[in-house]
Amino acid sequence: MSVGIIGAGISGLTAAYHLKQAGIPVTVLEATSATGGMIRSESIDGYLVEHGPNSLRDTNDLLPEIIRDLNLTEEIVEASASARKRYVVKHGKPEPLPSSPLSFLTTSLLSTRGKLRLLMEPFVRSGNAQENETVASFVRRRLGREILDYAVDPFVGGIFAGDPADLSVAHAFSRLHQMEKEHGSLFRGLIHAFRNRSDGGNRSRSIYSFRNGLETLPRALTQALGDCVHVNTPVTSLRLDDRRWHVATREPDGATEMRFFDAVISTIPLHRLPGIDLTSEIDLAPLERVPYPPVSVLAMGFDRSDIDHPLDGFGMLVPKVEDDYSLLGCLFSSTLFPNRAPEGQVLLTTFAGGARHPKLGMEETAELRSTVLQDLDELLGIRGAPSFTRHIQWQRAIPQYTLQHGHVKAVLDRLETRHPGLHFAGNYRSGISVGDAMQSGVAAAEETMHSARSVVTGAS
Ligand SMILES: Cc1cc2nc3c(=O)[nH]c(=O)nc-3n(C[C@H](O)[C@H](O)[C@H](O)COP(=O)(O)OP(=O)(O)OC[C@H]3O[C@@H](n4cnc5c(N)ncnc54)[C@H](O)[C@@H]3O)c2cc1C
Repeated sequence: MSVGIIGAGISGLTAAYHLKQAGIPVTVLEATSATGGMIRSESIDGYLVEHGPNSLRDTNDLLPEIIRDLNLTEEIVEASASARKRYVVKHGKPEPLPSSPLSFLTTSLLSTRGKLRLLMEPFVRSGNAQENETVASFVRRRLGREILDYAVDPFVGGIFAGDPADLSVAHAFSRLHQMEKEHGSLFRGLIHAFRNRSDGGNRSRSIYSFRNGLETLPRALTQALGDCVHVNTPVTSLRLDDRRWHVATREPDGATEMRFFDAVISTIPLHRLPGIDLTSEIDLAPLERVPYPPVSVLAMGFDRSDIDHPLDGFGMLVPKVEDDYSLLGCLFSSTLFPNRAPEGQVLLTTFAGGARHPKLGMEETAELRSTVLQDLDELLGIRGAPSFTRHIQWQRAIPQYTLQHGHVKAVLDRLETRHPGLHFAGNYRSGISVGDAMQSGVAAAEETMHSARSVVTGAS
């Protein structure tokens, strides 16, 4: 059998790698001139800037396995011990999130009432758990308003660039939703999970990157795949005819070419689907309506002596309730990983926009820079202008798992059932992290092989 893979982001590359390892011929078709999709690391003037993701975490066993397989273990850089602290802004001041029972008792991020409310969690009845509940409602109900405002909201802003009032707890935080269903309480669920860790406690909990940035991973995958990866080759139409997929592409010389495959895995973002002519009686509108709010990444270098804050942490998140500030958050990149800034300089990576401030995510560099600098100045005490600035704008950044996400998944399932040999993978399927996107690639590759075996053996 032959498989065509549309998109060479991390989902597409991982799907292709998995199939190739199983001996199945693959062809990867990528619209842009580079592979890796959102993962891109750029070295400029001694700074190492990440355009998209900045760090990895082993959310499953796949990521460490592939890293070992590609001989990248030596390239790993762990987050530095001095980046353990995470700051959340409260009343205009970055406050460290509590990291131990003692710091929980003394933290000023939560009032005594907020702390007591959190401790009541095991006693909150789960009888009223709704199937389709927002993250905000779930957290308010189980953990209280303060945890929503000063822990979950900034976290959701930092990860999804989203708003907890829009996201579905069942889809965006399925583990929490499951814990309540199975154990009646998050605390009890956590204790159970801790006691029954499926990895025997061996999976790395650490946060890491690579010496030369995260792009190391897609670059190594691309190299391992060899000449089956075609860049500057966007797919323009997909048609199933006579049990074969006819895939039209625009070639680098502008010509149109038709390729033929037994199966196709689409890994492109849902908002790009209208760019592909796919004749189907299934309405694709619910897929195209999935919100992908814009996010701007502003990487700035400063003289270390121009910043008052010790930058002794991972970074700082800004909750929505702190509405004097426009940022979603800021990573202390040169504290987090080594070699991110020249000697004597520091690199701060700020995220702005998202569901909270979509307009700011689309702002031109000069306006954005001035807004960001004003906030950073007040929060971190910055004197002097940045010595380096790089602005990356993601006009459609991260898919939001809203209350409609169950419907979105049902449409994808229906498409796969109705169109034999067509599969979908990507960060809209079962998690937005790099590891989850990779896992969705492997799942689609496995499905493809399973369907092919069923055809050969005549099984259903
Ligand atoms: C600012 C930001 C910060 C993030 N931070 C983190 C983080 O720290 N840690 C983490 O784990 N995750 C993070 N993420 C999320 C993570 O990076 C993404 O979810 C993941 O990389 C998505 O991979 P993907 O392969 O599903 O999609 P993509 O990377 O979007 O890849 C899709 C590919 O399809 C191609 N394509 C589109 N249309 C066509 C077509 N018609 N024909 C052919 N090819 C096409 C695109 O060019 C692209 O290369 C972050 C994301 C953003 C935006």
